[in-house]
Amino acid sequence: MSNSAVDILIVGAGPAGLFLAAQLAKINAFHASRTRVGEPAKRIDYRIVDKAEHKVLVGHADGFQCRTVEVFQSLGIAHRVVHEGCEVAEVVFYNPDPDVDSGKGGLKETQRVIDTEPGTSFFRHYLLGQARVEQFLLDLMREEDNTFVEQLMDPTSFEMADDVNSTEYPITVKLRHLAPSVSDGKNKEDSKSGLYRSNLFATETVSTVPEPDKDADEVIKARYMVGCDGARSWVRKQIGLELKGDSANTYWGVVDAIPITDVGILSTSDQYSRLLTKTFLLVFAIVTNNSPEECHSFRRIRVDFNRAPGARLCSVSRLAERFYVQLGRLEPGERVNRNEVTIEKIIEKAQSIVKPYRLECADVEWYTCYEIGQRLCDTFEKQERVFIAGDACHTHSPKAGQGMNTSMMDTYNLGWKLASVIHGTAHPSILSTYQTERHAVANDLIEFDRKIAGLFSGKPATREEAGVSLDEFHALWKKMGKWTTGTAIEYAQSSVVANVKQQSFGIRPELATGILIGSHFENHPAICCGTAQDIQLQHRLISDGRWRIMLYPGDIRNPAVSDRLKSVCENLDGDDGIIRRYTPTGDIDSVIQVLTVFATPRLEVEKQALPEILKPKRSPYGVPAWDTIFADDKSHHTGDSKAYIGYGIKADNDVGCAVLVRPDQYVAGVWADTDIEKLGEY
Ligand code: FAD
Repeated sequence: MSNSAVDILIVGAGPAGLFLAAQLAKINAFHASRTRVGEPAKRIDYRIVDKAEHKVLVGHADGFQCRTVEVFQSLGIAHRVVHEGCEVAEVVFYNPDPDVDSGKGGLKETQRVIDTEPGTSFFRHYLLGQARVEQFLLDLMREEDNTFVEQLMDPTSFEMADDVNSTEYPITVKLRHLAPSVSDGKNKEDSKSGLYRSNLFATETVSTVPEPDKDADEVIKARYMVGCDGARSWVRKQIGLELKGDSANTYWGVVDAIPITDVGILSTSDQYSRLLTKTFLLVFAIVTNNSPEECHSFRRIRVDFNRAPGARLCSVSRLAERFYVQLGRLEPGERVNRNEVTIEKIIEKAQSIVKPYRLECADVEWYTCYEIGQRLCDTFEKQERVFIAGDACHTHSPKAGQGMNTSMMDTYNLGWKLASVIHGTAHPSILSTYQTERHAVANDLIEFDRKIAGLFSGKPATREEAGVSLDEFHALWKKMGKWTTGTAIEYAQSSVVANVKQQSFGIRPELATGILIGSHFENHPAICCGTAQDIQLQHRLISDGRWRIMLYPGDIRNPAVSDRLKSVCENLDGDDGIIRRYTPTGDIDSVIQVLTVFATPRLEVEKQALPEILKPKRSPYGVPAWDTIFADDKSHHTGDSKAYIGYGIKADNDVGCAVLVRPDQYVAGVWADTDIEKLGEY
């Protein structure tokens, strides 16, 4: 039996686990880029294990929120989402047509609404299969850090030292290397069926478990362990936690298929133009034909048809429709037997809903069935050494496309904190904020989901009968728009978010009225003084584990501003200044990077004359690109940049603004630039 030790053991390689590994890979790659060849690079040692034979190949989650695309941008992979995903432009509502005899059914387009309110994000909302998303993360791990998922690894025992600080590696996990036939997973003969991984009750048991190869078993010791092992989490059980909440009361079928249909915009006659334009209309059809429970939604998704395990990626990439069909209701305690759910039954139900229109599914890519229940763990960690993330700590319906996004954003929140603690640049107490911040998000999400799922599953109002009115549905949909884009999150005051009410550590939120403390740093363009490109400032906040101080000194042509900036930088760069105090090695911007935006025409910013701390730092190789100095100025192509207006910055002769941004792009606080010591104290 082999033994090894790691900083972080990640159990489960779905979206949550892969995102964590990808983020750590990015952080490692940054430190490697600052290290000379032959010298050891500062590195987080992590392993990611999964008991299934391979990643998800088809189906599962498909919604990609704007905020998640922003975060992918910070990892350098948003272009893949934008290229392959289907952009959601509008939501179209269908309802029973009151002019059609209710016995025959009938649908009518009743309203179209914009999907993402203008100004919400630089990016849009996309639909893209989980299989592709997982692939992007795997590619990033390989390219940035040469790391891989270790498949067919099944954890069998767990121990944690009573005093977790008494030993370097307090966690011990034993893993069994599985033979392919033992994995319960993703590669069963019928790759179209996602039922094996759905949350439905399975009557079958694995009857032929071969004797495990004892020599191949392994003991891994770890400083930290993160359970990203889904709704039936093994890690959650080891630390004595359980998902609590509503038991399911409805169950749904999901199908990815190319339909042959004459229902409204789903007509397949424009197949070719669809592929060219990739524009997408999301359709929610609320339908009734005597049965009040029948509701469904259609959305377009890009899928890789006929992909067998191991086949070349994207061999047959086509646009399909995904539809969700409510199959039935459940009494308390009642469970659905997955063996009784077939693709034929799901399609039959969908056909009965869209009657008198035609709906046939010639080419089915994937289908599944699941029960909807909103559940949440009381806490997401044990002794700040073992954490759970994603579906392991919260489950909800996929109605608003939150599952995959929230799971990845959980580990986005956790990854940089773990890395900072392991690198020794943050106190371990920072880890408690994972639980406080993400539990609050999950709680809000479940409340939101309960409302949305209630409306989807509710009986639509008709002329004859009361029920869920379209107005009610639209109103909630609009109100929740920020939720569905992922941009609504506002972390509460903690050691990593300054207290706005008490104006702790001398923060001055009024100096940047367009910036919300506790929320993500939003996007506004500015012009890069070095390259003349118009740059989205948020895009400069790369997820490489670094904090950023965004300085907005004002117009440097003004001698008062220039003098003030000099003294601010002396403070920043001094031996006792915030940057050197928190940067143990000589690599001065490796913990905190300073980015400066001037309210000055870019050619009038004398870059060479600027204080050293503002200039870009050189990696051991290459030339600095002046990519830390920006100006509010005219772009050659896109008009005036308006960063000062966008962020609501107040800067004059006496005061400028310094915004502290966490490694996950959330704003920790806003200070006057003259109060840099206070920022340092914070
Ligand atoms: P998962 O994706 O569940 O990943 C968990 C990983 O852990 C898996 O790779 C699994 O093999 C592995 N694992 C499990 N147990 C162990 C163990 N003991 N040891 C090692 N590895 C283990 N969301 C939407 O937004 N829209 C949808 O339409 C949608 N449809 C879905 C359909 C189905 C059938 C399912 C199951 C989920 C669906 N979801 C949907 C939800 C979405 O897929 C999840 O929210 C998201 O995948 C959660 O990511 P995760 O990484 O937390 O967990």
